[in-house]
Amino acid sequence: MEYGLGMDSQAVRQKMVSNLAADGIADARVLSAMGFIERHRFVDTALVNQAYEDTSLPIGLGQTISKPGVVARMAELLLNGRADKLGRVLEIGTGCGYQAAVLSLLATEVYSIERLRGLHDKARENLRTLRLPNVHLLFGDGMVGFVKGAPYAAIIAAAGGEAVPQAWIDQLAVGGRLVAPVISGERAKQALMVIDKTPGGLTQMVLETVHFVPLKSGIA
Ligand code: SAH
Repeated sequence: MEYGLGMDSQAVRQKMVSNLAADGIADARVLSAMGFIERHRFVDTALVNQAYEDTSLPIGLGQTISKPGVVARMAELLLNGRADKLGRVLEIGTGCGYQAAVLSLLATEVYSIERLRGLHDKARENLRTLRLPNVHLLFGDGMVGFVKGAPYAAIIAAAGGEAVPQAWIDQLAVGGRLVAPVISGERAKQALMVIDKTPGGLTQMVLETVHFVPLKSGIA
């Protein structure tokens, strides 16, 4: 028994993966990455029993680890059916580092920015034993992106604001795709926004309603 997870964690994780597939996640590489990364290692001991439920969980400092269903959905949107790996990916909002770990299996390089020092340090600790050499954790304000890694094949935000910062659009490669929760409409609800940067300009889709923590500027 590990960490009080009543069953062998592999079996519980495979159950989560079959639920994701039943909920419509079809990309085999996404499902395999979700089955490989041990989500229970990214949450507090007291929450380990809930680690494979499709729910967000507190990770400290008022932030949450995203629902597995949302992590898988966004990864699938980023891959967009392509056969090869993604190139460089920028993640805004490292949190506990779970999504960065999942993305590391789907991309050549992952640059992940966190604005809260406490969580940046926690992610570093969580990822240490996984030894994922292509994950680069950065402490800073993700609203300005990370110019040194640009241009990115994909940009993914784990926190939602009123609009997509221009810096993210600028740092997206032509042919690249951005997925972010954005507040829209009269009822101020968040929805997933997908922006493709094509040679002819930007195209935009607004998809389902989501619930992410707010995108905030500055560091703390
Ligand atoms: N990717 C995480 C989700 C973390 S929650 C996972 O794997 O589950 C979103 C994170 O975004 C929070 O930790 C929050 O502090 C961070 N965040 C919010 N605004 C940010 C900004 N401007 N730059 C960097 N991180 C930000």
